Amino acid sequence: MKSNIILLGPPGAGKGTQAKSLCETLKIPHISTGDMLRQARSEGTELGKLAESYLGAGKLVPDDLVNAIVAERLRKENGGYLLDGYPRTLVQAKALKDSGQRIDAVILIDVEDASIVERIIHRLSCADCGRVFHDVNMPPKIKGCCDHCKGELRRRADDNEIVVRERLRVYHDETAPLIDFYEKDNVLYKVDGGAPINDILNNILNILKKAA
Ligand code: AMP
Repeated sequence: MKSNIILLGPPGAGKGTQAKSLCETLKIPHISTGDMLRQARSEGTELGKLAESYLGAGKLVPDDLVNAIVAERLRKENGGYLLDGYPRTLVQAKALKDSGQRIDAVILIDVEDASIVERIIHRLSCADCGRVFHDVNMPPKIKGCCDHCKGELRRRADDNEIVVRERLRVYHDETAPLIDFYEKDNVLYKVDGGAPINDILNNILNILKKAA
């Protein structure tokens, strides 16, 4: 049976990067609430219009809205998945649990606050496949162009210092309590997000082999 996995960690911890590699390796879908909300915003849907002001300010979109889009998305899955950016509050974690979803492992990618701001303000994201680059430490081979799919690299509107500091505050206030929540369920595993990208991936894969 394929695993149901949650990636937890502050903004800029590398959840998106690890999620892409894990989902390719494990052949499970990558469910990112941030990507779903940004897509809704760019398509101008009702959901996108509702989410817009929260996304721009680094605030959390209301729980009811996010719970509903995730519940709808998970109805289509029965062979493993990776949740990236959800749950982000205790209300969301409880809703997921109450919906009867089995969670096999919650991977906390741990990174010090001090390095988060630097990581995020240098972050470039592919508009097509969502892969991320760092314009100093991990630049693309061709400027402005994704190494993987040749999509256009852009800076996310919320990847600026003021909004990042707000996203970090929100993480500590609202999301960090999930660490205790999942520790109590014996499914929490911590990895060092400061390690090289491939080492983090291998650490997570080793954890999943034991946890599954
Ligand atoms: P991310 O791409 O995961 O960094 O998410 C970007 C933004 O989308 C966040 O700053 C929130 O505004 C919104 N968002 C993503 N996931 C959630 C969630 N689970 N609950 C509430 N808001 C979310």
